[in-house]
Amino acid sequence: MSKPIYCDKCKKEIRVREDLVTATMVIEVVPYHEACYAKDLKGAKTFFLDNQPINGFSGNVGIFFVMILAFFWLLFADGASKAASLLALIPIGYRLYSYLTYERHVEK
Ligand SMILES: [Zn+2]
Repeated sequence: MSKPIYCDKCKKEIRVREDLVTATMVIEVVPYHEACYAKDLKGAKTFFLDNQPINGFSGNVGIFFVMILAFFWLLFADGASKAASLLALIPIGYRLYSYLTYERHVEK
């Protein structure tokens, strides 16, 4: 079930989970080596690359569950906009996608 994950910048395989950074670029989730991500952040892609890694500080489990709670709260709260609850789903979707597509294939 394991498949190699290749860094979007240097095209080399990412072997350890600690070295894997996933980030959104426009609407796509891309995998990076930690060092390569830092380089791209300072490079020409800055404008397109989200400076918050999905699986890093802002993408930790706590935030993930807060987003889920926010989603259900918005969904069931009286008069709350359903559109707002859908917006809360976007980061959850990215987080799940990042995990399923990249993180679970890279050894811890
Ligand atoms: Zn790399």
